[in-house]
Amino acid sequence: MKGLLLGGSLFSPAVVLAKKKKEEIWIPAYEKLENEGKLGKRVEQAYALFEKCQLCPRMCGVNRQKGERGFCRAPLRPVVFSHNPHFGEEMSVVGQNGSGTIFFSNCNLRCIFCQNWPIAHEGRGREIRDEDLADIMIHLQKLGCHNINLVTPTHVMPNILSATRIALKKGLRVPLFYNTSGYERVEILKILDGIVDIYKPDIKYMDSDKAEKYSAGASDYPEVVKKAVIEMNRQVGVHQMDRQGIALRGVMIRHLVMPNRVAGTEKLVRWMAEHLPRNTYINIMAQYRVEYRAYEHPEIARGITVEEFMEAVDWARKYGLTNLDPQTKALWNFYHQRRSG
Ligand code: SF4
Repeated sequence: MKGLLLGGSLFSPAVVLAKKKKEEIWIPAYEKLENEGKLGKRVEQAYALFEKCQLCPRMCGVNRQKGERGFCRAPLRPVVFSHNPHFGEEMSVVGQNGSGTIFFSNCNLRCIFCQNWPIAHEGRGREIRDEDLADIMIHLQKLGCHNINLVTPTHVMPNILSATRIALKKGLRVPLFYNTSGYERVEILKILDGIVDIYKPDIKYMDSDKAEKYSAGASDYPEVVKKAVIEMNRQVGVHQMDRQGIALRGVMIRHLVMPNRVAGTEKLVRWMAEHLPRNTYINIMAQYRVEYRAYEHPEIARGITVEEFMEAVDWARKYGLTNLDPQTKALWNFYHQRRSG
């Protein structure tokens, strides 16, 4: 694993040597915590939460240790739908060998337009032990994946921590990448402080009525996600890469533009500009599809227009966000040239 991208090339030999040493000693966050003797306690702390589950803002209070299930319908053990190198993520997490993606079944948000509804809503997948999850992590690392990409991790966070510790003892060395809907409690995120290297919150809306309508009554989503992202930024800061352009650390925000301004994009980018560093990474995506039960709601029962995507990116620039995802920029440029031509 290489060091952080520091920029500049006119270094003295001593500085080059110091940088080389820094590269050699880069270690993932969870390994540092284990070396400090703290990772085991975090696993215990997380597992205790299963007795009266308050892992997410739904705060069901069910005893998952005894087999009770809450809103997410998740059992005690993690249910995994698939695990493989994935090339459909941002360039800095995909690299040449892919992102080591583990799709967890079930979900605590359950959006009505979910593109993974057989996994998230129906819970399709295979129940496994934490030891098996650790072996999956090691397998993905052996395939050359640049990170362990945990998709929809919130309701299985204790299992993930336990598996990470087991995998660390088997040689896990790649960044842990928390790929979440953003519907996260700050108190729970604090348990992940010093364990997760990369956070990717998928910020869905800025209006509580939209969140309530399209994400199973989660009217507190906008307030929750804002607090969560501020905590994520406090823990890992802005997106950082190695010399090969591979993500090592930081917050990467993802935002899906929805038809009829349902996602509240302008409010989001303005909030980001006011509350986060201006160089916070944001991927503004155009690939909204009418999935699952979205067709029942005329407001979201179509794809987005070119104009809706262009205005979203224009807002991000207008409010001074400087770190747009390369694919967002390329798509904007493509449509801009077609318009100009
Ligand atoms: S993780 Fe599941 S059971 Fe726990 S509070 Fe959230 S929705 Fe409820």
